[in-house]
Amino acid sequence: MNQKIESRRDVLKQLVSLTALGALGVLRTGQLAASDATDKLYSTVIPGVKGKIISRTDSNYELWRQAMVWHHSKPKRYPELIVQARSEEDVINAVKHAAKNKLKVSVRAGGHNSTGTSVREGGMVIDVSALDEVEIDEEKQVASIQPGVRSLHLVTAAREKGLSFPVPHCPSVGLSGFTMGGGIGWNYPQRGGMATHSIVGADIITADGKRVTANAEQNQDLFWAVRGAGPGFFGVVTRLYLQLYPVPKSIMASSYIFPLSELETVTQTLEKIRKEHDVSRVELITVLMHHPEVPADAPPEQSKICFFTAFAFEDSTEMAKAALLPFAESALATKSVVQAEYQEYSFEGLYDRYFSLKDPAGRQGRYIVDNVLTNDGSATLQALAKHMHKAPTKDCHILASYNLRLEEKQDSCFSWVADCFVGCYAIWDEEADDDKNYGWLSETLPLMDPFAVGHYPNEVEPRHKDRYKKCYSPENWQRLAQLREKYDPEGVFHQYLTQTEATGGRG
Ligand SMILES: Cc1cc2nc3c(=O)[nH]c(=O)nc-3n(C[C@H](O)[C@H](O)[C@H](O)COP(=O)(O)OP(=O)(O)OC[C@H]3O[C@@H](n4cnc5c(N)ncnc54)[C@H](O)[C@@H]3O)c2cc1C
Repeated sequence: MNQKIESRRDVLKQLVSLTALGALGVLRTGQLAASDATDKLYSTVIPGVKGKIISRTDSNYELWRQAMVWHHSKPKRYPELIVQARSEEDVINAVKHAAKNKLKVSVRAGGHNSTGTSVREGGMVIDVSALDEVEIDEEKQVASIQPGVRSLHLVTAAREKGLSFPVPHCPSVGLSGFTMGGGIGWNYPQRGGMATHSIVGADIITADGKRVTANAEQNQDLFWAVRGAGPGFFGVVTRLYLQLYPVPKSIMASSYIFPLSELETVTQTLEKIRKEHDVSRVELITVLMHHPEVPADAPPEQSKICFFTAFAFEDSTEMAKAALLPFAESALATKSVVQAEYQEYSFEGLYDRYFSLKDPAGRQGRYIVDNVLTNDGSATLQALAKHMHKAPTKDCHILASYNLRLEEKQDSCFSWVADCFVGCYAIWDEEADDDKNYGWLSETLPLMDPFAVGHYPNEVEPRHKDRYKKCYSPENWQRLAQLREKYDPEGVFHQYLTQTEATGGRG
């Protein structure tokens, strides 16, 4: 009896603290580490695993299951076990246990993936979010990070040594999911377009529970796969080695806002500038969005805007100003309704900007996304502009990142030649609006796909047919399948989320 009361109290205590964490925005980053006082709540034991093991019959299973996914579109898929690894040993023992007991394994790191791909029906989730050490080798300019490290953590650790990484544009995104599935990070034009190409090595637990290191010299086939396979990777990465770069000495941004009806002015001016000046080092972002300060029900003509920003990352203020000058001397400056030019930032200060602008991308609602990689970002935006008028909520938006400068890669399964990423995001609150929002997103495909050379695997919607397959060239897709067969012949790891799983599974 006492035991029962005690454990109810523990559940309550944990719920209260989790709610508080949620309110503080901590829970959304997924660091759901229950206190040791609640240990008795967890009944399952896996030999050699010291971290929490949550089984489907545990009273707080649902809390943990939902916390695996950052946004609010929680999948209606129910794993048998969630193992929160506390060490690499835990990961090894969990994988061995799963293989022996035919529990298919999925991996969860920062939990930000829009598909909720770590939460699958049955099987075991290995949650690596509590493994969050960062070590910086200043001389080699390489960061060695555990898989639970998030963007802001690496920014600050590297900054202390005068170094930086092309981290995601939102501070809480998990770096292992981000880099393994591509990664369009800050200053991407000067950092190879996708952060995955800055992975210089990885420690991987393979399906047989062995730990292997993959880099340009050892296990090159796994190295090729870890650079881009993302949510379809067949192993658990327990450490990533990331190439760092000097922190740019001067970061400056110039922003220009137009009514959406003026999109053509923006795209034509942008293309003219790109033709007449070398602005290939500048990060160019165009967002079609609802003006954050205009009521949600205002007519599109009065609420939808085109928000263009050029970010310069340079070695001096003079160089940054020079990089932004072509924009300041163009129709962007003379015809826009709002301008904010030559604004200075520190690298981490870019995140303050992000929040102060009430950027809808970071809002934690229900969340789905799909995208194209294209060599004609402007035409793609034009094709999507009218559709923006029909956006079902004020947080739905369309974002184009120009100057990706993606080149063919032999040492990475993610290999496209593309200039621009265009992503369409639906973000909303109520479950009752799911169909409306999914409908809006799926209607973007016939508009944007004609411009696609490929797609970006971290931000596709698997309810759309063959979406993951289309993120790779046919040869690379086939080679990934061959490597999966070689390293995971028994199918211990889940593959890419299928259309059937996604259709039946989303809440
Ligand atoms: C608010 C927000 C902002 C974003 N900003 C950007 C941005 O600026 N640029 C950009 O390119 N993308 C951005 N993204 C997308 C982001 O890159 C993906 O959602 C990415 O998958 C997140 O990684 P994660 O570790 O947080 O997610 P998770 O959901 O934990 O991981 C996704 C999947 O990746 C695989 N995986 C992750 N870690 C491992 C590992 N250690 N071993 C094996 N497999 C692993 C697993 O299959 C896992 O299920 C953003 C997303 C959100 C929600």
